[in-house]
Amino acid sequence: MPNPKRRHSKSRRGKRRAHDFIVAPLVMACPQCKAPKEQHRVCSKCGYYNETQVFETEE
Ligand SMILES: [Zn+2]
Repeated sequence: MPNPKRRHSKSRRGKRRAHDFIVAPLVMACPQCKAPKEQHRVCSKCGYYNETQVFETEE
């Protein structure tokens, strides 16, 4: 069975894991209805994005 000859260094392991962390979504208040929404996403409450209605909401 092929096996690694040398263990990777802590530095090398860290460099690989540098891309593994999860970032929390950027949440902002919707300019239309002030409900919290993710940036660069259509608001799920009022259906607005960039001051234009993207989809109709029930009510
Ligand atoms: Zn909204």
